[in-house]
Amino acid sequence: MTKKLFKILVDLDGVICNLDATLLKTYRLKFPSLPYIPLQDRVGQCSDLQYLEKFGPKEASAVQKILKTPGFYRTIEPNPDAIKGIKELNKRRDLKLYICTSPWHRNPTCVQDKIDWIGEHLGKSWVKKTIITPDKSLIKGDVLLDDRCDIDKLGKVDFQHVMVRCEHNEGVKNRFVLEN
Ligand SMILES: [Mg+2]
Repeated sequence: MTKKLFKILVDLDGVICNLDATLLKTYRLKFPSLPYIPLQDRVGQCSDLQYLEKFGPKEASAVQKILKTPGFYRTIEPNPDAIKGIKELNKRRDLKLYICTSPWHRNPTCVQDKIDWIGEHLGKSWVKKTIITPDKSLIKGDVLLDDRCDIDKLGKVDFQHVMVRCEHNEGVKNRFVLEN
């Protein structure tokens, strides 16, 4: 009988790459006169919503403009420790690792950018291990490592969510947490 492999789904944005950090750098570069939220003060999954609440529509639309820019997702800086970690885990014969990521539908090149990013920063073999889905609840696995704090909003899921700690979910408690 073949042994069942333990499947680990790993989120991309906020886990393997630093979406918020790259977004902030780009925002300050492109909109130097607008106020910004330092990384340590980011709260919640969506930057544009926090900018809307804290500053107003002008700042929120500046954030959205960056997120919508073709090629932006190709420029996100990698998180070297996370990459090292998943490559280590991938050596284990009892584990099966996949990247599981949702595209931002309002960016026309987001899907291809993510595939190209994975090919460059993780290696071509990881492109074949990449699941791109608008809804992670459709995907089966044993564990999902994801920085999202509201995975429960997806409804019934077929994995145990382990929340990867980062700036925007710093205040979230009562979860299985993987601390950075
Ligand atoms: Mg994420």
